[in-house]
Amino acid sequence: MSLRLQFWGTRGSIPTPGRETVRYGGNTPCVELRTAEGWLIVLDAGTGIRELGRSLISRANGAPIAGDIFLTHAHWDHIQGLPFFGPLFQHGNHFTIWGAHALETSLGRVVRDQMSPVVFPVTFEELDATIDFREIDEECRRGNGYEVRAFQVRHPGGALGYRFSERDHARGLVYISDNELGLGAKYDTRAAWREQLVDFVRGAHILVHDTMYTAEEYDHFRGWGHSTYDQAVELALDAEVERLVLYHHKPERSDDEVDRRVEECRALAARRGGKLDILAAAEGMTLIV
Ligand SMILES: [Zn+2]
Ligand SMILES: [Zn+2]
Repeated sequence: MSLRLQFWGTRGSIPTPGRETVRYGGNTPCVELRTAEGWLIVLDAGTGIRELGRSLISRANGAPIAGDIFLTHAHWDHIQGLPFFGPLFQHGNHFTIWGAHALETSLGRVVRDQMSPVVFPVTFEELDATIDFREIDEECRRGNGYEVRAFQVRHPGGALGYRFSERDHARGLVYISDNELGLGAKYDTRAAWREQLVDFVRGAHILVHDTMYTAEEYDHFRGWGHSTYDQAVELALDAEVERLVLYHHKPERSDDEVDRRVEECRALAARRGGKLDILAAAEGMTLIV
């Protein structure tokens, strides 16, 4: 029994096609997760979801497609691929879009608005698939062969981190795409937030975490809602995860630079005496949880 995950988009903020980003990829966040029974879970709907949609349609070979789409939050880079997700344009398909209750406006409203006639040629109402919106709070939900828990992270406007595992399976995957671990910035989170985050992540097999900035860059972007490489490594070590996947790469970060950051992260983990496997998310990469 295991979850299988595949990266379709790894880049933060804005798509970055080009020669410098070919290896790690230029599409904004999207991850496909499959349960042992084959149920489809999609994490975020950045531009990577377009290619995922093409792949799903070809794999389905005419059969209906169903799945759960979990959005961490509704910033552009996490929803901008949805209007290009082919399976939404097919009758008989069924998707449930999950997101935080705490958004200033409802998730359904944000997704509909990005398809309003002023900015997009096809309205949400014209989509042929059945689409439900469901809110998720910091709670544990079970169904479709897996268990999911959500945790409020530190990001402007709010965002969720998710932990997925199969039933009665203690380990699993933690997915935190956008999160500011630096405690200098102000957020409306509880005093024991970091401790609780460590508990939420504890013992995960794989932690996929925001590593947008270097420590030097972070000084200029405090309060923008993202973490440094070092902070993500520290979290992974504190929570004793087995494998850390660097994610939500900064748009300016070239492939060669990502390689160097991975080496630095590994060196840091080694200095701390931790047994932590570290790699950077790349489009097309698959991992078994
Ligand atoms: Zn983002
Ligand atoms: Zn964001």
